[in-house]
Amino acid sequence: MLDLAIIGGGPTGLTAGMYATRGGLKDVVMFEKGLPGGQITGSSEIENYPGIAHEVTGMELMEPWPEQCMRFGMKHRMEEVSRVSKDGDIFKIALLGGEIVEAKSVLISTGSTPRRAGIEGEDKFFGKGVSTCATCDGFFYKGKEVAVLGGGDTALEEALYLANICSKVHLIHRRDTFRASPVTVEKVKNNDKIELVLNSSVKEIVGDMMGVTGVTIADKDGNERALEVPGIFVFVGMNVNNQILKQEDGSELCDLDKNGNVIVDLKMKTSVKGLFAGGDIRIDAPKQVVSAAGDGAIAGIQALEYVND
Ligand code: FAD
Ligand code: NAP
Repeated sequence: MLDLAIIGGGPTGLTAGMYATRGGLKDVVMFEKGLPGGQITGSSEIENYPGIAHEVTGMELMEPWPEQCMRFGMKHRMEEVSRVSKDGDIFKIALLGGEIVEAKSVLISTGSTPRRAGIEGEDKFFGKGVSTCATCDGFFYKGKEVAVLGGGDTALEEALYLANICSKVHLIHRRDTFRASPVTVEKVKNNDKIELVLNSSVKEIVGDMMGVTGVTIADKDGNERALEVPGIFVFVGMNVNNQILKQEDGSELCDLDKNGNVIVDLKMKTSVKGLFAGGDIRIDAPKQVVSAAGDGAIAGIQALEYVND
């Protein structure tokens, strides 16, 4: 019987584990299906984490976290959780392989993953020219032209990263104003290698046996044109990873809002006693590493209090 099961090993889960074990909880396990660190490890640059004044990659930022956060006794199991349910006072954590682990309290910190845009050809060529990770795949397009889709912080920041590697970046956005922060928008506008394709959408991603060969772009009047590129990076927002809350009868373990975000209070408590949630998965998440870590600290302290009570 675990004191606390943490599902997801991003900034939220890691920080929660540190606070819970340092505060005295004995049996704390973080279930993380991959390497700990979370989605920021796929980011080419982070410049807004307090205390880190120079630019670092997401991987560099997260590299020391697991060692520090597990120093006080939290254990990591590299397992994917398929469902969390509650039976009386006890939580049951079902692992993908079939094992059931029991815990007195649970933190849901499964974060979010990139959304697909729903373009024809996107699924067919995913991994063969369609990507959602510039740091992972940008190098394959060294000296070549690429397209980037989206107008948020991720799209613009990753377009800037790709502009360092590629000969040209066509940044395609459906409006003429951006959701990204003004400082990032300025950097993009001042970058000679980024061409803005505004008020436009991608109708189709085309290719052959080898992968993507181009995209069809439509402007707001419906005029279409072909753009020959071997790669397109899709950054159109994130979906929260709340699938593990779905129960056998189709209901949800705890209350969610209409977009699937977990409803929590200021103590990261969900509608179910002993169940906490934090980071990108919660309502009103600013979707930042620093706020995810802050949520983790709160959840860790609250889980400690709950189990001790
Ligand atoms: P995540 O980091 O998403 O971690 C969740 C973890 O849970 C993942 O490791 C995942 O593998 C694991 N998991 C999910 N489901 C399961 C399961 N069923 N079983 C086991 N494990 C599971 N933020 C900033 O502050 N500054 C930035 O500059 C910045 N840049 C970004 C750039 C990019 C490209 C992206 C994608 C994000 C960026 N962000 C940035 C946002 C930041 O990364 C997130 O807000 C933050 O990582 C959220 O942390 P989290 O712990 O909630 O979740
Ligand atoms: P986002 O802010 O939701 O932006 C998504 C973008 O994709 C929007 O411009 C949207 O257009 C566009 N879009 C959505 N669906 C589309 C579709 N089907 N076809 C074409 N375009 C589509 O997502 P994000 O950029 O991934 O950022 C997610 C969160 O992480 C945000 O809160 C962001 O601030 C944060 N983040 C922060 C940093 C940082 O602090 N430096 C870096 C990265 C991410 P519209 O604008 O028209 O809606």
